[in-house]
This record gives sequence, C-alpha cells and structure tokens, in this order.
Amino acid sequence: MKTYVTGFPRIGEKRELKFALEKFWRGETPIETVETVAAELKAKHLDYQKKAGIDAVSINDFSLYDTTLDMMVALGLEPKTHLDIDDDMERYFAIARGDKTHKALEMTKWFNTNYHYIVPILDEITQRPVNIVKIKTEYIAAKAKGVTPKINLIGPLTLIANAKKSDGTDAPFEYFNTILDRYKSLLQQIATLDKKVLVQFDEPIFATDKANQLGLLIKQAYRELSSVADNLELFVITYFDHATEATKALCTTGVAGIGLDFVYGEENKEVVKTIALSGKKLIAGIVDGRNIWISDIDAKVALLEELSKDIDKENIIVSTSCSLLHVPFTLEHEQRMDSEIRSWLAYAVEKLSELHLISKLFFDESLTKEEYHALEANKTANQNRKISSKIHDISVQKRMKEIETLKTKRVPFERRIKSQKTKFSYPKLATTTIGSFPQTPEIRQTRKAFKNGEIDQETYIKSLQKLTKECVEWQDKIGLDVLVHGEFERNDMVEYFGELLNGVAFSQNGWVQSYGSRCVKPPLIYGDVSRPKPMTVFWSTYAQSLTAKPIKGMLTGAVTILNWSFVRDDQPRSQTCYQISLAIRDEIDDLQNAGIGMIQVDEAAFKEGYPLRTKKYVDYEDFAVKSFWISTNVAKETTQIHTHMCYSEFNDIIRTIEAMDADVISIETARSGNILLKVFARTGYKQEIGPGIYDIHSPRIPGVEEMADQIKALLEVLPAEQLWINPDCGLKTRTWQEVKPSLENMVKAVQKVRAQL
Ligand code: GLN
Ligand code: ZN
Repeated sequence: MKTYVTGFPRIGEKRELKFALEKFWRGETPIETVETVAAELKAKHLDYQKKAGIDAVSINDFSLYDTTLDMMVALGLEPKTHLDIDDDMERYFAIARGDKTHKALEMTKWFNTNYHYIVPILDEITQRPVNIVKIKTEYIAAKAKGVTPKINLIGPLTLIANAKKSDGTDAPFEYFNTILDRYKSLLQQIATLDKKVLVQFDEPIFATDKANQLGLLIKQAYRELSSVADNLELFVITYFDHATEATKALCTTGVAGIGLDFVYGEENKEVVKTIALSGKKLIAGIVDGRNIWISDIDAKVALLEELSKDIDKENIIVSTSCSLLHVPFTLEHEQRMDSEIRSWLAYAVEKLSELHLISKLFFDESLTKEEYHALEANKTANQNRKISSKIHDISVQKRMKEIETLKTKRVPFERRIKSQKTKFSYPKLATTTIGSFPQTPEIRQTRKAFKNGEIDQETYIKSLQKLTKECVEWQDKIGLDVLVHGEFERNDMVEYFGELLNGVAFSQNGWVQSYGSRCVKPPLIYGDVSRPKPMTVFWSTYAQSLTAKPIKGMLTGAVTILNWSFVRDDQPRSQTCYQISLAIRDEIDDLQNAGIGMIQVDEAAFKEGYPLRTKKYVDYEDFAVKSFWISTNVAKETTQIHTHMCYSEFNDIIRTIEAMDADVISIETARSGNILLKVFARTGYKQEIGPGIYDIHSPRIPGVEEMADQIKALLEVLPAEQLWINPDCGLKTRTWQEVKPSLENMVKAVQKVRAQL
C-alpha cells in the first residue's frame, strides 16, 4: 500500500445528495430515491479514487447526514429520547433534524473546520445492539468494484471527547469502558467481513491539548481494539495539528499505522522516529485536505524524502492531510473561472492525481507521458503563481511596508466614550440591531434577476432603496435609538465584500458541506487584497439621509473574511489578514468622512479561527487583534466603533476581546441569560456591551415583560450606562411578521425599565 486517502467528500459534485435529501424531506420523493442517489454517488467517488490509483479507498465516509451520527447508530448509541420511532430512517432524521415531537440533537463545529457534527449524548445509553448494516453494504459494494476498502470510523476518544451529557455538560470519560465495549463488538462483526479488513479510526482529538491527559486511555483503547481479531489492520489517523503525545502512546499498541498531518502539524516530524522504532506504518498526510491550492509536487516529494531519513520508505504511505470533505469536488465544473487562477487550484479529484503523482516520484516509479505532462504543468503553474501580476500588487505591497506603524490602539476608551456621548447623546440602555433585516423571497428574486441581467442596475438599486427606506423609517417610528440600513444589498456578509475586493475570486461550484444538506461556497483569496472603491458608503449615506437618528455603518471584519475563505498559502495568513484590514480601514475612513459616526465591524468568526493548540493562540490573537486595530484606529475620537460576535463563551478570550478595544460590542447571550455577562463584570471590562436579549434563531416572539425581566437581570451585572439593548444576531433569516412585534416589544421593554431607573 503506497497511497491512502483519509476520506472523500460526499454531497456530490453537483450537490446531488443535497437536492435528493431536501426533496425527500419535503415529502416529494420516497427514501428509495435518496438511497439510489447515494449508491450512485458512492460508486462514483470510489471510481474517482480507483482511477487515480489510490490504494486504500475509504468507505463509511459517506453519510446521509453526518458521520458522527452514523457512528452512534453503528455503536447502538442512539438517544433514548428518539427510540420510540420504529422506522430506522425516520429515527435517523429525527435525531438529526427533529420532527413534530422530537428535538434535534445539538450540532457543533468539527474542530476548527466549518463542518458541523451531531453531538452524541452519552448519559442516555440504552442496550441497543451494534449495527453494521451500512458498513457491510458499503464494504460489499466496494469489493465488487475491485478496490481495497478501508472502513472509516470515528475513534472512541474523539467520539467521547465530542459528546455531552443530556444536561449540556461535557460527557466525562466515565463512559469510556462502556463505549469501548461497543467498539469491540463492532470490530468483532467487522472482522467477519473479509479475510483481512482495514479499519481507520479518525482521532482528531489527538491533535488538541486534550491529548496530554489521554495517554493511558489511548493505550488501553488501542491495545484492546487491536487485539479483537487477528485479521484486522487498524490505522489511527490524526489531523489539523500535530499529534506527538498520542503518537507515543499509540506506538505501544498493536495498531498497524498512524496518520499524521504534515501540513498543519510540522511538529509531527519529531515523532517519525518513534513510529519507525515501533515498526508501524506512517500515513504521511502531505496533500492539503483543507485548502484548494495546487501542491508544489517537488516540494512534497522533498518533504517525503526528509521523512524517510527517519523511517524506511517501505513504511511510508502517502496521504492527504485530512479528509477531502473540506474541499470542493472537482474543477471540471469551474468553467467560468479565470483560467490563470484555475490553474493554481486543486479540488478533491485533482488532489487524488497529485497524491498519485507524488507517490510515484517518491517511490521511483516511472511516469506515463500524461503524468510527466502533469508534473511539468504543476511546475509551470507554481512558478507562474510566484510572479503573476494577478497575485502580486505592488501598491498593496508598498502599503504593507508601513503596516507596523498602524498596529496601534486608539486614544484611551475613557476619552473616546466621553466625546462620543457628547456627540450622540444616546440614552442609557440604547437600543439597536445587529444589522440585517429580513431577506424576503422577493429580495432574493430581485438579486437573482439582476445577476442574470433580467433587470438593469438602476431598477435593482431603486428597488433596494425602497426597501431600505421602509426599513429605516420603520425603525425610526418604533423608537429605536441607533438605526441600520438593513443590508438588503447583501447576499452574505463575507461574499458581499469579497466580490468588491481585488485579490478575491468566487468559484462557480466550489461547494463544501457545512452540515446535513447545507453547503457553503467560500471565497478564494488568491492575491494581494485591495479595495478599488468604497463598498458601503452609498447605502449607509442613503440611509442616513432618511433620518435624524444615527445610522450605524456595517462592515465585515478582516478576521472573519479570512476565516470564512480559502486563503492563499504562499504567505502567512497574518499578512493576508492585514491586507484586508487596510481595505476595511479605508472604508471606515470614507464612512466617517461621509457623516457616518457609528460603524460596526462584525467579527462573527473571530473565535472559530483559534488554533487547536493553545501554544499557538498567541500568534493568532496577535494578528487578529492587530488587524482590528489597523482597521479601526483610523476612526476619529468621536467615531464610535462597534463590533459583533455570534457566540457567548468569552471566558477564555475575554482579555483578547478587551484588547480589540471596540467602543461597543454586541454578543450572543440571549440563551444564557446574564450568566455569561458576568465574565465582563468580573474582569473589569470597561467598554460598552450589548448582550443580545432575545434569540433570533427561533421564530418565537418574546414578550415585553419577559424582555424587561431580562434587562433587569442584566442590570444586576452591569450599570445602565454600559449596556446596549439589541437582539443577539442579524435578523436576515427571520420574517417581518416575527421581527416587527419582537423589536417593538424590545423597545417597549427598554422604555419600561428606563422609567424605573
Ligand atoms: N451584520 C450582520 C447581520 O446582521 C452580522 C451577521 C452575523 O453576525 N453573523 O446579518
Ligand atoms: Zn451574529
């Protein structure tokens, strides 16, 4: 075995699975149709890998919703709360999505990716048998195709570490033995499938600091699992960072191979010798499974050569850094993209060819004519990428030379806030919203018509102006203190800015699965970023012309744009982030000069960009905070900078949030009351805070009393002069029928509380 792919995407290169599932959920087709589509996709994906000459091809990386959920089913760990549903499929989707009488299980991000898994609940384990139906079916189908199937399973330690108890707290490792027994039963059944069976355990938890405490459990788990049956060959695969601690433990067990990520975990080089001494195989993750740029084939071969100084070549298997789930399918369907940019890209299918080519070169196999051409093309594209004027913009680079001088804080907050309060004289408990208002089907229709050239720009802008006007006038009328323009011109908070920035491209078909049937199409930041012209001034000033109250300008921050994009890998992420910050800086300056005195810089994805290893936090925090400074320190003393973050757990990062030094931060605490606010009080946070007082993710309309109580609870923690009152996130996913009464009630609640102050 020379080549190995950790996992392949599954939604379909034309999102076939998504459409089949959604039709089924709408009741338009039977489940059999979904199953047919799924079988076709699995076959197609195996074919891609077979054709590319990959030796170990994954099965069970496919799923109708989520592989962690599939793992729960396989292990007999479905939650008690859903076991009254007899039909397997119905129960499966009820766990994933909820139904009339059952709640969906919580979903959360898979480590530092944008993929979401279903969080297993472990204190409700019932005695259900393990279930290998899906695995067996896929195994047989793969064998029939003549490939060597490798069964992908989520490893026990990752499964437990990612699980919870039904009260929402982390599931402790007290469940370890029970769960391990289930795994052993599952392996016993898997062992009956064939003379020899390859099994992969995904253990990304080993790439986090938790690995430090897991040594004994890792040893126990993999010693026991590797002695279940003689005909099993187990591979433990880690990714997203280094797994040096776990590797040492794994080397004392009977597993056949260990997968390490050499793209995002350089430190892994330190343990290659350990693996060599243990006689195990090293599955060397060298082709980037999380980004879309072509590999530098020569450099990858050189990396493998370097590794082979510590371990015999025969014991190296060449692999992707992680599952290819995190990249789009194939460039085949990118017909409209600039051909030069396209030549720098490799999606999943193209990565398979890269892997094969790298392995052939490394193992000294002779290349076919096509492979030779592919190698030449790779060299040319990489050279070209180093010098292309599309990427390298002299004016941006010139400006970047001055970046050091811009990494500074504004004048002290105490001074700023005084000037701002004098200028705006907004009341205590000032009311505002997070920016967007409902994106109705009509708006989407209009945007589509404009994109397709069915209506001209003038008509398009007029219709958006009408909506903006209605929205501003309504906010004014109900008595909100600080208004927004409503973001009707935006499809998405990152895409909107990406489309207006130089150095950022959009794919036609670069879909990546986010959860269930949901996909996102991240922008491609391929070159030096700059802002050719103002991006939001038109809309903000138009809105400001309609009211005497302050309009809050609305921007997406550099860190969020970075974290939600595919980012160029030919310079440090920090540099790219600083370039974006400069563009945002210019926008802030233009806005304030055009009379917009309050400006919100959304950093919705600030927290999710954190590295997995705490040791690496400092670097991230350093550039993330400085990016925010670079953007915002252009603001005058009287210009009020707001920021917004879509989560509530600030305990770990409160000092960093404080260091960003925004005048006002709005956060998502609606679901947790004032508990999470306490961290701000406890740490002596001085700046103003708008804790979301109602949950916009739910269609529920909160009442006046309820919100008044909520505000009073907030006042127990922080003084009225420090508090703003707002919903907990943008309103674009809600309807006007929900938004209108909710915000009216919110304003009334504030008035009520103010009267009692
Ligand atoms: N201003 C954006 C909006 O209101 C913020 C969205 C977000 O935080 N996710 O939609
Ligand atoms: Zn938000």
